[in-house]
Amino acid sequence: MPLLNRGGTGFGRAIPTQAPFGEVDTSQPAGAAMKTGLFEACANLNCRTGWLHLWRNRSVPVFENGWTCSPACTAVRVTAAVNRELDGRGYAGESHRHRIPLGLVMLEQGWITQTQLRRALEAQKAARTGRLGEWLVRQRAVSEATVTRALGLQWSCPVLPLELHDAAAMTVAMPRLFVDAFGALPLRLAGGRVLYLGFEERLDPVLALAMERMTGLQVECGMVRESLFRPAHARILDAKFPGVELVEAVSEPAAAHALARSVERTRPIASRLVRVHDCLWLRMWLSPQTGPLPETGSVLDLVCSIGIP
Ligand SMILES: [Zn+2]
Repeated sequence: MPLLNRGGTGFGRAIPTQAPFGEVDTSQPAGAAMKTGLFEACANLNCRTGWLHLWRNRSVPVFENGWTCSPACTAVRVTAAVNRELDGRGYAGESHRHRIPLGLVMLEQGWITQTQLRRALEAQKAARTGRLGEWLVRQRAVSEATVTRALGLQWSCPVLPLELHDAAAMTVAMPRLFVDAFGALPLRLAGGRVLYLGFEERLDPVLALAMERMTGLQVECGMVRESLFRPAHARILDAKFPGVELVEAVSEPAAAHALARSVERTRPIASRLVRVHDCLWLRMWLSPQTGPLPETGSVLDLVCSIGIP
């Protein structure tokens, strides 16, 4: 198992389906694997290459803490990972949970009156646009900060500040596509082990869990005030993200094939697969990670969606 630290670093919460992170052992240079990798056992348990692989000159790719001796063995392991990820689709926790309407939250807190709520709802209905919070602010019933506080109560999450946001430093947290499509804003790292993720209107627990599994960091989600969120979100979308390949597969086997081919072609020293909603996200480390997040040029992402044939 070249360059891997089986025990992990203990970062973050334990994830039931995968070991904690720590997969990139920074104590060894990348080249060290070339020597030890030759004598590692192939991670495909049904590998038929046997002792012949001792003569194979490859120490990569490494997929999910295991080196594989051949493209066939990589395909077996990637296919198993794809099946594992897709098996978890649509579990109960992902379905929409009913939340107390925002207006009611504010009414219960005594932040607005019934009359104010009615006026805002009527205006929203007549205009057929805008969120309730926006109408309440527009009608001067509450401040934007109060709406954000109410969203925090509605989602049982904190309101997160946005000072000193370093957009360029946070692009390595996730592919640009996720920032854009799921309205997430990677805010900052705290203590090298907590990743703060900001949202404007609703949390995305599926994305947060995927982030924890991919980065090994503890991911804390919270609301960010709209007027702060939007410019910061635009700024990060303009920043440089790690390289990404977008793949549309027609079936699960086609997805597994594309992912395995990418692992074989890229030869990462570490790689991992997680599902984010209907996408599979493969991240490949090209060089050892020296901090809690990789450097922009040291990882490649592949985001694969599976269409209905
Ligand atoms: Zn093998």
